[in-house]
Amino acid sequence: MIKKFIRRILGTKQKTGDHTQPVTLTAQEHRIDPKLVSANAIRVTSTLQEAGFKAFLVGGAVRDLLLGVKPKDFDIATNATPEQVKKLFRRAFIIGKRFQIVHVMFGQDLLEVTTFRGSSSDGAPKDEHGRVLRDNTFGEQHEDALRRDFTINAMYYDPATQTVLDYHGGIADIRTRTLRIIGVPEARYREDPVRLLRVVRFAAKLNFAIAPDTSAPIAVMAPLINNVPTARVFDEMLKLLMSGHALACLQQLRKEGLHHGLLPLLDVVLEQPLGEKFVRLALASTDERVKQGKPVSPGFLFASLLWHQVLEKWNAYQAAGEYPIPALHLAADDVLNTQTDKLALQRKIASDMRDIWAMQPRFDRRVGKTPYKLLEHLRLRAGYDFLLLRCASGEIDSEIGEWWTAFIAADGPGREELLAKKPATANEAPAKKRPRRRSRARKPAAGAAGTSE
Ligand code: ATP
Ligand code: MG
Repeated sequence: MIKKFIRRILGTKQKTGDHTQPVTLTAQEHRIDPKLVSANAIRVTSTLQEAGFKAFLVGGAVRDLLLGVKPKDFDIATNATPEQVKKLFRRAFIIGKRFQIVHVMFGQDLLEVTTFRGSSSDGAPKDEHGRVLRDNTFGEQHEDALRRDFTINAMYYDPATQTVLDYHGGIADIRTRTLRIIGVPEARYREDPVRLLRVVRFAAKLNFAIAPDTSAPIAVMAPLINNVPTARVFDEMLKLLMSGHALACLQQLRKEGLHHGLLPLLDVVLEQPLGEKFVRLALASTDERVKQGKPVSPGFLFASLLWHQVLEKWNAYQAAGEYPIPALHLAADDVLNTQTDKLALQRKIASDMRDIWAMQPRFDRRVGKTPYKLLEHLRLRAGYDFLLLRCASGEIDSEIGEWWTAFIAADGPGREELLAKKPATANEAPAKKRPRRRSRARKPAAGAAGTSE
C-alpha cells in the first residue's frame, strides 16, 4: 500500500519538473494526528482564514507532524502582508531586516508568521560571492515553496481542512528518509551558505540520508560559510548544539568536512584529543536534557566546549609564573576574545561561561567558611554540574565531586563532619610557592580578575 502511495506521488507533475501545482494529500493519506497541533497555531491560521487570507502551518512543524513527532514550535505561512497580519492580533510585532516576519504572542507562546516569499532572488542584492543580502519580495505559495531549503521543509498543512500541500516531493522523501535540497544544490548553497550547516543538522537530527547531489558539493563549498555574518552562524550552531542530537551533528560535520578551518570553535572541539572525552560527555548530557524536556543553558554548553582550550592556556600562564586564579582569568579572556570575534558569542553567554570557569578552583578549597560561601553562589548548580563532568572525564579525581555531592545534600552537622574528615588529596588547593612574575602577563590579569570576582 505504501509503495502504491509513493508511486502515486512520484507519478505526479512533480516528476516532470512542474512545481507550481502541489500534490494534495488528505487526512487519510498523510495520517497527521490533529492532536499534535497546538491550539495557538490553529488560532492563528483560523483568524487569518476568517479574515479572507490563506494560512498554513509550514516547514519543520509539518515535517515533524508527518513523522508523528510533536513539533517544538509552529511556523505559519500566509498571503497576508506583515502589516495585515499585525492588525489581526493583539500582541504581534514585525521583526527582521533581511526578511520581515511577524511574531504573534499568546502568553509565553510565540508563533512566527511569514508572508509567502517571491520566487526569484535574481534581482536581489548579493555580495561578491553570490550570497543574497536582502530579499523582501512577496509572492505566490508555489514561489514560497521553491525558496525553502529542503523538500521535507516545503510542505503546507491546513488544520481546517486537514490537507497537506506538497510542491517538491517532500512526502516521498519523508517516506524514504531522504534529505534533499530544492533546486540546483550549488546555487542554493551559494545564495545562503548557512544551508550547508542546516543539511548536517537535519540529517543528524532526523537520522535521514543526504541525497547524493545534495551532499556532493558540501566539502568544496564549505569555505563560503566564512562570508556569512557571525551572528547567523552562531544562531545556526546554537540550533545544532541544542537540537538534542549535538553529538551526532558534530560527527556529521566532521564527516562532511565542514569543521575544518571554518568554525574556530569546532576546530578546537573536535581536534583536541585530551578534551574529546570531556566534550563527548558534555554533549551527551546536553542531548539527554533536551530529550527529557529540561532547559539547556548555552553558557554551560559553550563553557564545556571550550574548557580544554581554557585549561591549556591556564596551565601555560601558570608555567609562565602567574598565580592560579589570575592565570585562569587570563586564559578565559584569551579564549573568550577569540571566540567572541569569530562566533559573536553574546555578552550574557560569555559572562555565564566565565562564571562557570571561575568557580572551578573554588571547589578545591574545602576548609573553613569557603565551601559555605560557594553554596550561596547563584550559579552553583551549573558550576557543580561542570565539576562532575571534569570528574567523569578523568580530568580530576572523582573524590572531589563525591565530596561536593555529599556536602550539598548534607544538613548542618553533616557538613561540619565532611569538612572535618575531608581527605587531603592532590586536588586540594596547594600552598603555592610565590611564582616568578612576568609583567606582560600580570597586567591584564588584574583587570580580568576584577571583572568577575
Ligand atoms: P526546527 O524544527 O529545527 O526548528 P525548522 O525546519 O522549523 O526546523 P527553522 O530554522 O525553524 O527550521 O526554519 C523554518 C523553515 O523556514 C524551514 O523549515 C524552511 O522551510 C525555511 N528556512 C529556514 N532557513 C532557511 C534557509 N536558510 N533557506 C531556505 N529556507 C529556510
Ligand atoms: Mg522551526
